[in-house]
Amino acid sequence: MASYDVIVIGAGPGGYVAAIRCAQLGLKTACVEGRETLGGTCLNVGCIPSKALLHASHQLHEAEHNFAKMGLKGKSPSVDWKQMLAYKDEVIGQNTKGIEFLFKKNKIDWLKGWGSIPEAGKVKVGDDVHEAKSIIIATGSEASSIPNVEIDEKVVVSSTGALELPKVPKKMVVIGAGVIGLELGSVYARLGTEVQVIEFLDTITPTMDAEVSKNFQKLLKKQGLNFTLGAAVQDVEAMKTKAKVTYKLRKDDSENTVDADVVLVATGRKPFTDGLGLEALGIETERGMIKTDDQWRTNAPGIFAIGDAVAGPMLAHKAEDEGMAAAEVIAGKHGHVNYGVIPSVIYTHPEVSSVGQTEEQLKEAGRAYKVGKFSFMGNARAKANFAGDGFVKILADKETDRILGAHIIGPMAGDLIHEICVAMEFGASAEDLALTCHAHPTYSEAVREAALACGDGPIHM
Ligand code: FAD
Repeated sequence: MASYDVIVIGAGPGGYVAAIRCAQLGLKTACVEGRETLGGTCLNVGCIPSKALLHASHQLHEAEHNFAKMGLKGKSPSVDWKQMLAYKDEVIGQNTKGIEFLFKKNKIDWLKGWGSIPEAGKVKVGDDVHEAKSIIIATGSEASSIPNVEIDEKVVVSSTGALELPKVPKKMVVIGAGVIGLELGSVYARLGTEVQVIEFLDTITPTMDAEVSKNFQKLLKKQGLNFTLGAAVQDVEAMKTKAKVTYKLRKDDSENTVDADVVLVATGRKPFTDGLGLEALGIETERGMIKTDDQWRTNAPGIFAIGDAVAGPMLAHKAEDEGMAAAEVIAGKHGHVNYGVIPSVIYTHPEVSSVGQTEEQLKEAGRAYKVGKFSFMGNARAKANFAGDGFVKILADKETDRILGAHIIGPMAGDLIHEICVAMEFGASAEDLALTCHAHPTYSEAVREAALACGDGPIHM
């Protein structure tokens, strides 16, 4: 048995970042992780492996569609799926080992095994019970399904199974047109799979700014993804190497079936808190999410919770920010997360990103706003790189010009969004962005042009 200032349960981006920050602040820290490797969902079966496959499959797309246009001729590469998976695993390994290195560097003990909290101030791992002045629950989330759909990770898979299919399927049905379904659907569409996305609602990515969402769907359709919207999946019958998906179209109640080699269930994720002992401790939850105050304290003394296990967007960077902030609170400082400025990104091609309010939200709130928009068609760098699809849209207060939100669909949208995040953190106006010199030729110029469009107008449109 050992005694610690802080024990973090779970070594995903929330937990490992919290542990590192606690150690940096001089607290004796341990982190419990039951998985074989550190890094949680994100590094092992989430953000990182999906981005590796998106990167590899995008290179294939470039070779097939754009190389010859630039005078790069010859046979297009063919897909060695085993090697592509090995590349993905190598990327995971490098990243998870990196966290192990950071734990050693910061003198954080990795308590290997599944942890539970027998009572406040104690964490049990295997037969050992450790003491901790503070405990941070960072146990993350797991894939959730819908009624009548059982995930077997062979024919009916979650994102985890989709990241390690034994071969590239001929036909894939993706249930759910959210971020995970569209990213992984894109990967397989680029590799030659016929992909059909079935979504209950009438739009894809429904929380996104509607104009962006509409454009996004059009672009994905051009890339070969088929969409069946407004359709409620009734049942998935899994056979040995195939599955039959039955869905009802909501507009006319007609029942349809479709066969697939693989069905990817991408209908969302739910907090994972099994085996922690929350009930016995009396820790309050709401729809599975651990309830906390605005300093990530649960109702049990000395027990905090962060990341996917609590409310808010299920994003790695949100978990990381909460991890850092909770550590600061435990160390007696002022941890803070600005939930109004958390970017979200879809890593398809083109990428899609957003921060702050959508036009629909502003309308609903009755806020007077203006829109500054700029198409990547007017951006020289984008045109040179066959990346002219999409636009930057900035929403600013009509009176004060303060930036209220931004939505980008286009090249490197996931990186471009951050200058707007920084601007929003500083309470900047669109004019502040417009008056900032941007290097030429960069995609970032499109952000500046959209800011100019909030005022007297863009130059290149
Ligand atoms: P997790 O990363 O889920 O980590 C929790 C860890 O706790 C796990 O390793 C688990 O084994 C461990 N654990 C649980 N219970 C116990 C216990 N009792 N004892 C010991 N250990 C325990 N987010 C983004 O921001 N960008 C992306 O591009 C992105 N892509 C994604 C792609 C996919 C396919 C998926 C599935 C998710 C993606 N996400 C992405 C979401 C992101 O992975 C999560 O938001 C993030 O991992 C949450 O971090 P966390 O620390 O809260 O939990």
